[in-house]
Amino acid sequence: MTECSLSGFSLNDEKTGWNDPNKTEEQRALLRSRGNLLNKRMRYSLDYKIILAKTRINAAIMTYGVNNCYVSFSGGKDSAVLSHLILSMGYKLEHVFSNTRLEYPDCVRFAHEWCRKKGAKLTMVLPDIMPYEVWKRYGYPMFSKEIANILERVRTHKTVNPKKLKRVKNFLKYKDVKISERCCYYLKKKPIMEWQKRSNKKVAIMGVRAEESRVRRTVWVRKGCIYETKDQVVVHPIIFLTEKDVWDYVKRFKIRLPNIYYNGVKRNGCYCCGFGCHLNDENNFVKLKKLNPKLWENVMNHWGFAKVCKQCGVKTE
Ligand code: SF4
Repeated sequence: MTECSLSGFSLNDEKTGWNDPNKTEEQRALLRSRGNLLNKRMRYSLDYKIILAKTRINAAIMTYGVNNCYVSFSGGKDSAVLSHLILSMGYKLEHVFSNTRLEYPDCVRFAHEWCRKKGAKLTMVLPDIMPYEVWKRYGYPMFSKEIANILERVRTHKTVNPKKLKRVKNFLKYKDVKISERCCYYLKKKPIMEWQKRSNKKVAIMGVRAEESRVRRTVWVRKGCIYETKDQVVVHPIIFLTEKDVWDYVKRFKIRLPNIYYNGVKRNGCYCCGFGCHLNDENNFVKLKKLNPKLWENVMNHWGFAKVCKQCGVKTE
């Protein structure tokens, strides 16, 4: 990594001692102060967060070169805000949509129209396998990534860390149901990694926000806004924006989002993912039935979710 230009935006595990059970007092203090700094930045005004976002976009582009960068674009509200920011800076970066084939049609349409109007190149990256083939071969994505992974390991007689097994003990009654976490790998990760290799573009600028989950918060505390992994460089310019900031931005710049956002859907992404389906009566399946009964019918009866949901006691309508 080019330390000099990115040192203010990046952090590594050596500095924080992330994986070290015997962290120094200095490392502990650093991690505490990172958590506090994140909270503080999330309370800044939207105007100031826009400046922070633009600084990070510039830093990434200056460091890695404009031709190596792309916008990870899902046709959702966060990536619309991100794209708007980048385009307003005069960078016509390629927009890359990782299309699992489970995207809301509204979002796919929006992505095409948005990029056409803005004059940005849109690339749809599709998996070479259909979602139902992944589910039938490996298992359905239910409950959560961790639970699905453990249930699959138990079902296929692989070893499981006893601590992890204890954590999911309430779900072990579903150990014979065909559940797996592999869907994301085959429908998202693998296709995008293959595209990155082909295109030689390794710098993914993403519309990820800390407020969305603990995992996303932790990633910032540990690594910052710009960091390198084995295969790519990840940039999170709008990490400090809250949900309210996103809506304020949308209003301020008069962005017309995909219709799903005006019909009760809060997040885009796969319309029939079973992750989180046990946490809320108004889960993805229930929402889909209201929004698009035809798609719901297909998911339930042709792609096999009806049977799996029934076995898992999950509401579908
Ligand atoms: S979000 Fe859910 S449905 Fe979509 S690819 Fe990942 S596991 Fe599969």
